[in-house]
Amino acid sequence: STGFSVTEIRKQFPVLEREVNGRPLVYMDNGATTHKPKAMTDAITAYYETINSNVHRGVHHLSQLATDAFELTREKLRAHLNAEHSYEVIFTKGTTDSINTIASSFADFVNEGDEIIISTLEHHSNIVPWQMMCARKKATLKVIPMDDRGVLDLEAYASLLSPKTKLVAFNHISNALGIINPVKEMTKMAHEVGAAVLVDGAQSMPHLKVDVRDLDVDFYAISAHKMYGPTGIGALYGKEEWLNKLPPYQGGGEMIATVTFEETTYADLPHKFEAGTPHIEGVIAWAASIDWMNEIGLENITTYEAELLAYGTEALSSVEGLQLYGTGPEKSALFSFNIEGLHPYDVGTLLDQLGIAVRTGHHCTQPLMNRLDVPGTIRASLAVYNTKDEIDQLVAALNRVIPMLR
Ligand code: PMP
Repeated sequence: STGFSVTEIRKQFPVLEREVNGRPLVYMDNGATTHKPKAMTDAITAYYETINSNVHRGVHHLSQLATDAFELTREKLRAHLNAEHSYEVIFTKGTTDSINTIASSFADFVNEGDEIIISTLEHHSNIVPWQMMCARKKATLKVIPMDDRGVLDLEAYASLLSPKTKLVAFNHISNALGIINPVKEMTKMAHEVGAAVLVDGAQSMPHLKVDVRDLDVDFYAISAHKMYGPTGIGALYGKEEWLNKLPPYQGGGEMIATVTFEETTYADLPHKFEAGTPHIEGVIAWAASIDWMNEIGLENITTYEAELLAYGTEALSSVEGLQLYGTGPEKSALFSFNIEGLHPYDVGTLLDQLGIAVRTGHHCTQPLMNRLDVPGTIRASLAVYNTKDEIDQLVAALNRVIPMLR
């Protein structure tokens, strides 16, 4: 029913064949970063071995080839996100960098007494930049509350929105709970009061088809490394109208039209927001990850991971004393849980002894952990190469570890 063979997919990830602590690796920390298909790592080597050059600068052949490959990724991302223009895709260091770009540049459109809205579910990278901006502009940060399942309270959100609201920022999928937020609806509500919308898409890109025009978001922030691509590279999608209005984030080479000691004029999009030599290798190799995902098919990925979610939710419910957090109706294949009476770190450490990689702690969402009234959780976050057999191994390992800690 999934339209692809997980066995074949796993063969493309050499690291999945390794052992950890004498056991086959069961990697369930994909929310932190995914592993990389060989097509992507081969693309890095091919870039250095065949066309390594700086982009947008040289008249020479290799520079032209590198520039073409670099710009091809931009076009692939445009198509992947269904953006209207490729120059609406800005390369950044990742989601954090993309959010900071807007938190800095958008500040020109925020005045004393204005309001920025975020949600309880946010990663620190979608909290701290707005706090910094609000402190600088004497604006106020408001927070959309959620219910105990991790579902945002849209009535409360509606009552927070007002003409004072200048921007609303929230994630598409929560990295700590896996909850999928109703982006389209929340965006429409923000637009009704004239506020711009930034969506943190770090966790959605690996799992579902994102269509920025259908969602109608103003900004969408992503990281390559969470979608089978290299680290150190990501993108910011922005509507042309906004990107043209916003001042550049950083100054330097590549982002200028003309420079004198008296005055500088800026380059057109996308270069206005891309100061300095970019992460060329990362951009070029990212295209291989995008192609790789598209070969499997985003719908196939979503369907298969939904099967893993259903299977895992059922399997974990058999574990004694296990409490699952984030049980809203729309979820990605992510299990955030605690075991009654045990510290998440102790459970995670023993799981590691059995070769199972999970994340424990606050997941860079301390305010959310406070809301749930827990010090942290154990998080098993799945990707397309995970299997039901691995979920069985997780459950078996938990059943072994829990009595050891009791
Ligand atoms: N937002 C969310 C929801 C995330 O999961 C992450 C990564 N854990 C980030 C933002 C930050 O991404 P990066 O570290 O790649 O900048």
